Amino acid sequence: MELLKLLGFCKELLKTRDTEEYQDEVLEKSIELGKKTHDKLLIFDMDETLIAAKFGTIPKEFEKTFAYDLCGTEIQVRLRPYVNDCLTKLSSMYEIIVFTAGQQDYADHILDYLDPDNQIFKKRLYRQDCIKVNNFYIKDLDIVLDRDKESMIIVDNSIISFAFDLDNGVPINSFYGVEPDDRELLFLYSYLEEIKDEKDVRIPIAKSFKLSQMQNSLGSSKK
Ligand SMILES: [Mg+2]
Repeated sequence: MELLKLLGFCKELLKTRDTEEYQDEVLEKSIELGKKTHDKLLIFDMDETLIAAKFGTIPKEFEKTFAYDLCGTEIQVRLRPYVNDCLTKLSSMYEIIVFTAGQQDYADHILDYLDPDNQIFKKRLYRQDCIKVNNFYIKDLDIVLDRDKESMIIVDNSIISFAFDLDNGVPINSFYGVEPDDRELLFLYSYLEEIKDEKDVRIPIAKSFKLSQMQNSLGSSKK
């Protein structure tokens, strides 16, 4: 139910996509990645996908991996289990970039920790690279000019992030840093390994997660 509501909401947001302002912003924010190092591009969200970060009141179960100071606020960060292994292994199969809706000064501390030698992420995209629609930050894959949609996968715990590219999106359960035994990244790794040689990744992704199919079925039942 929750999911259907969310997909209905994404459908509403879609109306914005065809407006001139929106398309101008896509153009304005467009980027190029340059020389291809692997056939497919994997785009990772950061918060609640690769790590959990907290400040203020922190639950007892949250065991920080590291902490840093951001303008006088201590941010505690817990890496998601298996994250280093998962990223290292995936980087031998995919080009990887990170796309966070977080602000750059907040995110860079964490990304520097995850990828100190810039070996994993070919590029880092931040809040300023998202397109804000109704107070939501959309990660529109159209901003990547020199890659095809058929070869892009975005992994994100929020479906709204990839609302305009549902068939490119691999949803992942949110990680809050208090889960006793989180194995989502192991499952994700197996899945991504399985689809890495598909010509058009949207076909297996649409089949596996059925997000656009569910969205289409909403059709005229809504006003
Ligand atoms: Mg997230």
